[in-house]
Amino acid sequence: MVERVGLLELELDRDVERLRLQVKKLMGAARHNEQVHNRFQAIEFALLAAQDFVAITDYLRADFKRLAELDAVCLTLTDETGRIQKLHYTNGEKCSPGMLLLDKKASIRRLENLGTNPVLGRYDQYQYGWLFDVPPQDLGSVALLPLIRHHRSIGCLALYSSRLHRYQPDAATEFLQRLGMIVAICVDNCLNYEQLRRLGFTDALTGLSNRRELERRMGIEVSRILRDSKPLSCMYLDIDHFKQVNDKYGHDAGDQVLQAVSAVMLAVVRLGDVVARYGGEEFVIMLPGAGRVQAHETAERIRVAVEKLKIRLSVTKRVAVTISIGVASFTPEQNTIGDTDEISEHLLVLADKALMSAKQSGRNQVAHAED
Ligand code: GH3
Ligand code: MG
Ligand code: MG
Repeated sequence: MVERVGLLELELDRDVERLRLQVKKLMGAARHNEQVHNRFQAIEFALLAAQDFVAITDYLRADFKRLAELDAVCLTLTDETGRIQKLHYTNGEKCSPGMLLLDKKASIRRLENLGTNPVLGRYDQYQYGWLFDVPPQDLGSVALLPLIRHHRSIGCLALYSSRLHRYQPDAATEFLQRLGMIVAICVDNCLNYEQLRRLGFTDALTGLSNRRELERRMGIEVSRILRDSKPLSCMYLDIDHFKQVNDKYGHDAGDQVLQAVSAVMLAVVRLGDVVARYGGEEFVIMLPGAGRVQAHETAERIRVAVEKLKIRLSVTKRVAVTISIGVASFTPEQNTIGDTDEISEHLLVLADKALMSAKQSGRNQVAHAED
């Protein structure tokens, strides 16, 4: 009897120990799941807080890459109209590392062909290298998360691991699917946010930068050229006898002329230059990195292109205008002027004076501040 009780107690002890171990294991798994959940949540919160592409890509390339133990991450976006590229340059920023913009129809179609669900599998440079700004060189595995907004493909988040078995075709994809959804929302948010910001610094009629934006950008660029020891040029442009266009053809025709001349200026300048409507029929163009000779050449090209314009007002009516341009250049070595604001103001005053002399010498010409 005593022996049986002893055996039962022993069995009971074993059961208790088994249960204790099971509970411990379950607790461990629960703790691990909670940690994973918290990590995913932290990733989602950080992504949703990003307000521009630089913030998104910075996060993906640093914290996310580390947290998710990846070897490469790239955010690839379709940009057929060049809208994202333009937003980047307007803010004085070039496309960030870790981000790739696809503007060719063929590559956009190739991206759309990935479908709407995550694609997991072996990485091969020929097949997937084009989805990375810096294509990984070694074998490994990838997870490609299509970014879909409003039933449309807007890009892809490409994740690469040097571990061959990290992403396998039959693995569960709920988390990746959710991550793709969050990133697509972030990209959309950024675009909308940037567009709204842009409304505040563009001129409604011409789409050029407004005066406030020019002043902001001049502050940034002057500081930059002082630091990098590069030249900076400024042009002041004014349409000749513009009042006559309004008087003869009406105000709407005048508006059309302003739009056509603005388009010419944008087409001639480089991507990092700032073209602003300063007021009425007067414009200012800032050319970071351009010295006197280069600025003079650009001004001449604008002058000639405007002169050649035959702006169509109706089927039978076309109007031609000319433009006068004053150019002023600055090199940091000659800086005896003072701080950034004083340099910006000084450049504008010099360019305006040069414009006056272009007008006085007969219009439709370029004059330089030191002429
Ligand atoms: P100049 O060769 O000396 O520059 O002569 P101008 O006629 O161009 O110069 P003026 O400053 O006398 O005339 C500028 C005109 O620009 C007067 C104004 O009505 C017109 N203007 C200003 N803003 C707008 C606009 O937004 N739309 C239109 N259609 N006209 C505008
Ligand atoms: Mg004027
Ligand atoms: Mg004028």
